[in-house]
Amino acid sequence: MRRMRVKSIMSTGALTAALDDTVQDLLRILAQYSLSGLPVINRQNQLAGFVSRSDADAREGEFVRDIMTPHVWTIDPEMEIERAAVLLAEYHVKRLPVLDNGRLVGIISRSDIINMKSGWWSCGICGALFAGLPPEQCEMCGADASEVYRTKPDKMEFLPQWRT
Ligand SMILES: [Zn+2]
Repeated sequence: MRRMRVKSIMSTGALTAALDDTVQDLLRILAQYSLSGLPVINRQNQLAGFVSRSDADAREGEFVRDIMTPHVWTIDPEMEIERAAVLLAEYHVKRLPVLDNGRLVGIISRSDIINMKSGWWSCGICGALFAGLPPEQCEMCGADASEVYRTKPDKMEFLPQWRT
């Protein structure tokens, strides 16, 4: 667990907003999935900003591009969890987009870190599945903890759209 990295517990296939989505649609999706905010991507699937419910309250505008925060903190998938937790606190944010060479690969939230002591875990090398605490190493093939990923099969299926 000491060596676990952001990529192991981040949410992948996260919902995103597009620059030309309407604020009305944005608010509907945030409410539907109980989210406080979404990363915004451009037509090239690059991260363009972040938009939250408080942005919608604070700013006038018809489209996501009008109200979003264009420059956002991001985090590296290889960063260790402890460091990520410190950054979330330092930046005063609930979640951070995870970028791999400029490509949005996931989102990590404070609740991902709080919840990391329980759940389902899958080994990226041999595919073994574990429940409960994240294993120190894969009990089947001995792979390092950095190869073990959180899996959330039940949560992924009902998300309506993937703009990946
Ligand atoms: Zn394994």
